[in-house]
Amino acid sequence: MSKEVRITCPGCRTEGTALLWDTIDATFNQEEKRRLLDGQLFYHYCASCGKATPIEYPCVYHDSAASAVVLFFPEGDGSHDEMIPQPPEGSANLRRVRSALSLAEKVRILDGGRDDRVIEVMKLLYVSRLKKERPEAQVQNVLYEKQDGVEQLVFILKGEGNLVSDIQPVFYERVAKDFEERIQKATPDGWAEIDGHWALAVLKNS
Ligand SMILES: [Zn+2]
Repeated sequence: MSKEVRITCPGCRTEGTALLWDTIDATFNQEEKRRLLDGQLFYHYCASCGKATPIEYPCVYHDSAASAVVLFFPEGDGSHDEMIPQPPEGSANLRRVRSALSLAEKVRILDGGRDDRVIEVMKLLYVSRLKKERPEAQVQNVLYEKQDGVEQLVFILKGEGNLVSDIQPVFYERVAKDFEERIQKATPDGWAEIDGHWALAVLKNS
């Protein structure tokens, strides 16, 4: 579902309209899903000067095939946390993310048929290996991607180019098996924030 809002371009002051999507369904909103994955959904593009203005607002993404719901509730000072919606009943996998980038990544992981908890643990294992090989590398972010059917982890390094590592399905399965119990135990009820901090806590309990 969407609603229309008036928005003034901060570049040229032209007034335009933007559509805000409070829910996106993987099946019924394929165009919006595509824009979400392209990183365009949470921007207003000015019809006059073309300037892209970020417009971030709470949005709930439903993937009924994966029985998953992801809540994008933008980063804030926490004062609006009481406005976080109640999770829908009967959904197995509830996630909360704080950025449009993280939302797009969660959708990619769901589309890849993977468990984001296993992916987050894998990221840390890869990073610790990278740190051993190259102690000077400063990893700013790690993102799951799928290019031409090949799953990858993209390491965004400070001051240098990205590093890409293919995900070996065998390694994925091994991590899923080895960490199964700890992952289950560490997954909270309700909207769960499954990110690097969460994965670190899982590894520390090893
Ligand atoms: Zn403009």
